[in-house]
Amino acid sequence: MIELAGLTKRYGEKVAVNNLTFTVRPGIITGFLGPNGAGKSTTMRMILGLDHPTAGDVRIDGRHYDELRDPLTYIGALLDAKAVHGGRSAYHHLLCLAQSNGIPRQRVREVLDTVGLTAVARKKAKGFSLGMGQRLGIAGALLGDPRILMFDEPVNGLDPEGIHWIRNLMKSLAAQGRTVFVSSHLMSEMALTADHLVVIGQGRLLADTSMADFIAANSHSYVRVRSPQRERLLDVLHGAGITVVEAGGGSLEVDGDKAELIGELAAQHHLVLHELSPQRASLEEAFMRLTAESVEYHAHDGTPAAAEQPQARAQWGEDWRRG
Ligand code: ADP
Ligand code: MG
Repeated sequence: MIELAGLTKRYGEKVAVNNLTFTVRPGIITGFLGPNGAGKSTTMRMILGLDHPTAGDVRIDGRHYDELRDPLTYIGALLDAKAVHGGRSAYHHLLCLAQSNGIPRQRVREVLDTVGLTAVARKKAKGFSLGMGQRLGIAGALLGDPRILMFDEPVNGLDPEGIHWIRNLMKSLAAQGRTVFVSSHLMSEMALTADHLVVIGQGRLLADTSMADFIAANSHSYVRVRSPQRERLLDVLHGAGITVVEAGGGSLEVDGDKAELIGELAAQHHLVLHELSPQRASLEEAFMRLTAESVEYHAHDGTPAAAEQPQARAQWGEDWRRG
């Protein structure tokens, strides 16, 4: 278990992590989601005692990182910054880690086998591909057989096979009852792996929810309707008690699976439809909505992020936050 209480980190004027309070529980994968610069890596460094909080507290199974004897046997981590000891072989890199942490040397062979690096164990790590380096980092995290594992953006830059492998590894670690805490800036990645979701933006906590609840609240369906007889269609829909949101480009949006109902109403009133299309709101949109206010500017064009959010979507964001 990892417990954060009011965890805060300032770098000069910049508040990188702002009063974060949440708990990462065992037996499930907790996804730590936020746009680039949200404060994920800084939070993870503070959990590992690599950065000191400006305020607040973080504990690993009730204790601070520097109070843990042989910390690698409590918590293993793969950090975003790749610290590859290029000159050493994979085997020697892990052996040094094991020896300085009171871990029996036969564990080195076990973890090399787990991550699939046995065949290249004697090769120098500096010749490793990104995927192999990532596997070596994960071997280091697993070395002390810790109950808690933390991965910072582990799938960045990996090929589909490597991504699949890491996902399955994390799932099996959680199934063994371990605590798994993994960061990503991609909603789509979290949707495939995480059981629980902690979302941050500009260092602040935006959501702490089960993935099932997040999906139920955010992936609802709606229908897009366009008609050259828009005003009459609006009257007919309102008359039938259907709530309509006016979306961009003259189209209308209706919550729920109401395409058939709308089609039949239009036919009854001899109204022409140019579009009647069932849609499903994506989780990616839900994430963008949630973090929109916390992303100051988009890097590519410098326009405020909130301006890109359609009205109807913003409305659902409010619903979700209320619910
Ligand atoms: P994430 O991992 O979510 O992308 P980071 O934790 O790396 O975010 O960064 C959060 C914010 O803190 C960013 O604005 C970043 O520029 C800033 N930051 C991180 N580390 C430092 C540092 N050592 N000195 C100054 N600012 C930093
Ligand atoms: Mg990061």
